[in-house]
Amino acid sequence: MGKIATKNELQKRGIGIPDMLCETCDFEEENANHLFAKCVTARSIWWNIFSWLKIPWQTNLDSLQEILDLIQNSPGAKTWKRHVHMIAIATVWRIWNVRNRRIFEGEGISVQKAVDLIKEDSFIWKLRSPPSLLRSPPSLLRSPPSLLRSPPQKPYVYLKNVCI
Ligand SMILES: [Zn+2]
Repeated sequence: MGKIATKNELQKRGIGIPDMLCETCDFEEENANHLFAKCVTARSIWWNIFSWLKIPWQTNLDSLQEILDLIQNSPGAKTWKRHVHMIAIATVWRIWNVRNRRIFEGEGISVQKAVDLIKEDSFIWKLRSPPSLLRSPPSLLRSPPSLLRSPPQKPYVYLKNVCI
């Protein structure tokens, strides 16, 4: 994460940054951990994603690594773990995108809109996954209707909902 061009990293590289505060909350210095894990916007987005994935949120999560570990260590089959890993990457990417839109286009988007976009990104990325990922049964796209009524321990159901 030290490579990402947050304000503190740019300053370390000798680039003059007039305002070190986070562009999203305007409250704390912008560094990778703040931007992706501690900022109120990032936490709201993660909370929604955890809720979508039916993974219990923990308020004491203090770093992106802790958030990713919690997602990766949540119980589930191998296929499920691949899906949540992809969703976690989509979430990090979208938080970075929200920040950049605010800085470079002067355009903020709501947490709900960001969450909707993460769900869309995850679904599109899933469709573009290598065939080996899609082959693992039950496939996202070939799930029989009965899976739509499955309990939360079959999280691909929620992915399926994205395209409905
Ligand atoms: Zn912030």
